[in-house]
Amino acid sequence: MLHVEGLTKSYKTGDSTLPILKGVSLLVEQGEFVAIMGPSGSGKSTFMNMLGCLDRPDSGTYTLDGIEISSLKDKQLAHVRNQKIGFVFQSFNLLARSTSLHNVELPMMYAGLSRTERRSRAVEALKRVGLAERMHHKPTQLSGGQKQRVAIARALVNRPAILLADEPTGNLDSRSGTEIMAMFQELHGQGVTIILVTHELDIAQHAQRIVTFKDGVIIRDEPVEDRLFATSSAEVIVT
Ligand code: ATP
Ligand code: MG
Repeated sequence: MLHVEGLTKSYKTGDSTLPILKGVSLLVEQGEFVAIMGPSGSGKSTFMNMLGCLDRPDSGTYTLDGIEISSLKDKQLAHVRNQKIGFVFQSFNLLARSTSLHNVELPMMYAGLSRTERRSRAVEALKRVGLAERMHHKPTQLSGGQKQRVAIARALVNRPAILLADEPTGNLDSRSGTEIMAMFQELHGQGVTIILVTHELDIAQHAQRIVTFKDGVIIRDEPVEDRLFATSSAEVIVT
């Protein structure tokens, strides 16, 4: 479903070029729920931005849902981003002046769907995330957890091949974070493929597999049970 091979990315600042991703390869199957962890600055967001077609790598290949992303022109890339990818950000990224309904309708406007189709799909998506009562509220009238649920509805409304989330619980209190994770698990149960970045093992343990970044490479890739076992064993040794 998603396959990247040898992805590299450097950022130029002034005269120097800093390598950030140093050859990242990852295969994610349809329906998998993967968590990405790793220290701050290790390249997780840079990687997610490549997967989300928000940015391009310097080299390497990327295939998503049978499409060879690496060879696409900018316009085609924007189309894939709109049609195939749902992206959830730490800071929600909702339009402040627009209602939940309008925020969720927006990706479908870019996709060229009719007004009636947009409205009915947006209502359905907001119901799916439990916000039937908040459709006409603006972001300032919503709690953090509710804002993130609008963002999830928006990410899902074009029925993407994959849902990408970069620290979706990073700005939430722990109760809202747990609610959002319950939602991701439910979506996973419905067959949605998910890749989620988090700093917290409590959050990552909702996934099936944990991939760990360090200094721009993947240093571990394991089923969640192995990681939890390794952590609890380490604690036993320490104490
Ligand atoms: P965090 O856990 O703090 O979110 P991260 O693993 O997501 O960290 P990235 O945001 O991918 O890390 O950043 C990796 C490195 O790339 C950092 O050293 C950062 O300063 C640098 N970087 C990120 N974006 C840019 C940019 N647009 N220009 C220059 N350097 C950048
Ligand atoms: Mg980040």
